[in-house]
Amino acid sequence: MRILIANDDGYLAPGLAALVKACEGLGEIDVVAPEQNASGTSNSLTLHRPLSVFTAANGFRYINGTPSDCVHVALTGLLEHQPDLVLSGINNGANMGDDTLYSGTVAAAMEGFLFGIPAIAFSQVEKGWGQVDAAARFARSLVEQVIAHPPAPGAWLLNVNIPNRPDAIELPRRITRLGRRHASEPVVCQQNPRGEPIYWIGPAGDVREAGEGTDFHATADGCVSITPLQVDLTDHARLPAWRQWSQAVGA
Ligand code: MN
Repeated sequence: MRILIANDDGYLAPGLAALVKACEGLGEIDVVAPEQNASGTSNSLTLHRPLSVFTAANGFRYINGTPSDCVHVALTGLLEHQPDLVLSGINNGANMGDDTLYSGTVAAAMEGFLFGIPAIAFSQVEKGWGQVDAAARFARSLVEQVIAHPPAPGAWLLNVNIPNRPDAIELPRRITRLGRRHASEPVVCQQNPRGEPIYWIGPAGDVREAGEGTDFHATADGCVSITPLQVDLTDHARLPAWRQWSQAVGA
């Protein structure tokens, strides 16, 4: 069993250390993580400059790039053998609903999935690393279960959000769908020291769809949320309507 572990908070993040430590003994572990915090970088790849790989004293490798860069480089040249599983996290804060589109944590796992490898993204619901070792113990137990009982043939991608609780491993788990958020808050405009306007991206919007069955609902209920993700962005429900539209306008 070979496991590749990445994250988006950077190679020094406590969530990464906790996940790696918890997974000890499950197999051969390689860590390839960003040099700096790369939260919110989504699936971006660095295409306009080369990337360097460094090795920390604890053996973790780190790259001056994005989470997707890390997994991409690992899978396409750095690692001698392909991993059987890609893990990402544990992220400092939730990745639920629309956040998953921006998440570097999810993107690192997704990069593994795109290469045909089963992958899991782990996040803690609250920021601040509270009870991160308990979250890591839950992560290990889930990894052990998917190794023992693969949920589906081929590759799959899970997005897992864990409440910050000491008993995380004993919490009920729910298989969920993504909820939705309202649009982000407006940008915050300030002036730089030269008097020029600068803009801070505003915080995420409030939760809009958090009904039963969603990730937001499950974690608010004190459960671990496990959402199976896919990559196909096609609007399958509207395909027939668009085909009709295309014929009607003579395109
Ligand atoms: Mn992050």
